[in-house]
Parts: sequence; structure tokens; C-alpha cells
Amino acid sequence: MVVVNHVARTPSSAQSAQTENRNIGPIILLGPPGAGKGTQAKAIVARFGIPQISTGDILRANRAQGTELGKRAAAIMDRGELVPDELVCDMVAARLAQPDCARGFILDGFPRTVKQAEWLDGLLAKSAASAPAPVVISLKVDYNDVLRRLAGRRSCPACGRIYNVYFQPPRVPDVCDVDGSKLVARQDDSEAVISERLKAYEKQTLPLADYYRRRGRLREVSGDASVEQVTAEILKAIEHDRL
Ligand code: AMP
Repeated sequence: MVVVNHVARTPSSAQSAQTENRNIGPIILLGPPGAGKGTQAKAIVARFGIPQISTGDILRANRAQGTELGKRAAAIMDRGELVPDELVCDMVAARLAQPDCARGFILDGFPRTVKQAEWLDGLLAKSAASAPAPVVISLKVDYNDVLRRLAGRRSCPACGRIYNVYFQPPRVPDVCDVDGSKLVARQDDSEAVISERLKAYEKQTLPLADYYRRRGRLREVSGDASVEQVTAEILKAIEHDRL
């Protein structure tokens, strides 16, 4: 068994009324670990009512539930390396086949290699009649900040909200503002693993920006402003391409 339906949050009824019939299509968030992809994906979910598909979250859910996929991925994730393309692509195919993806979806952490991007283009081409081409948002962040962003990251295990002890602290240290749960740090946000993850990013994921730029799909957004400002820029880029 593979756990696929991990994160799917719904928008408020006012927002869904506003957007319910639009086909938003695929939105891809690119950027180094710690760029704010997860935080921004949640804002896009709230605006358009399409699901966030975080391959990291799905892998962690499979791991927590002890599935075959989770067991195969665990050691690789702990080293900060990338899980093999075939495993991740199969997992994404299963998730995209679910009905809540029909009006669009946000890919957070996928694709992460040129192979994955090529695979995704093949998959999207098959449904080209109904789905518009992906909007690819590249979050540019100051590389010197990335370490602090990752080392300071905490999240709520209950509602998924993401905080940062330096940039976006909760009102009470280590406690979720929304539901009072104790915040947790990710296992792979330790210094040694962060360094490996950044190496994997530079070598395997950075070339994706060129891949999408050459196809005229890349939209670059500065991730260094406040969360709200970054969200506004991203929504502007999506609306520009989709309306
Ligand atoms: P993330 O939560 O996106 O930072 O991902 C955490 C870890 O999951 C990564 O360091 C990889 O080991 C694995 N992972 C997530 N997404 C992918 C992907 N698209 N391809 C390969 N490995 C992935």
C-alpha cells in the first residue's frame, strides 16, 4: 500500500464559491529547501481550492505508516539524498489520479530532477485537452538565509502550519498558534543533512530552472520579502497566466 492522500486542505466557502469552476491546472513550485514552498503552497490552496501535493510530505506519511515505499525511502531521506525517480513518479501518478486534482494541483517538491520534469510533461501531454500548461514559480532566496530558514523551521504536527523561530515565530515559543500543539523540527533539518540536501538541490534540481525557462514557463518570484508579499507576487503570476 502507498499512502497518497496526505495533504489536501479546503478553502473557506467564500473562496471556493469564487473559484469553484475554474480549471487552474498544474502549478509547480521550485526553489531550494527552506525557500518557503510549503508555506506558499498552503496560501495557493486557500486561494484556489486545489490540493497541495508535497512529495516530501507523502514520503514522510508513508514512512510513518511503515509502507514498502516508506521503508525504501527512509534511509535515503535521512542522508539528504533524492529518492529514485521511478519511486517518486509512481507515487505522484497515483496522487494525480485522485478526483480532487481534476481542476488543478500544486506540486511542492516535485519535479526535482530533469528526468522527473520530462516524465511530468509526458503525463500532462496525455491530458492536454483538459489541462493548461503548468505555471512554474521559481522562488529565489538569498542562499545565506537558507541555513537559518531550515535550522529555524518548526511545524505543527496536527494542522501542518509552518513557523520559523527566527522569521515567523509562534506567539508562544514551540506552541502552535492555531491549535496549541507542540511544534516539531523535521528530522532532516539537522546541519549535516541540510548540507547534503543543498548539494542535491544544486546538482539535481537547479538545472530545472533552465529546463522550464527554455520552454517559456518559468516565473521568478523573490522569496526574500514577507510571507504575505511573496504570496501576493505568486498569486499575481498565476492569475496573469491563467486569466
Ligand atoms: P522535502 O520535504 O520536499 O524537503 O523532501 C524531503 C526529502 O524527501 C528529500 O530530501 C528527498 O529525500 C525526498 N524527496 C521529496 N521529494 C522528492 C522528489 N521529487 N524526488 C526525490 N526525492 C524527493
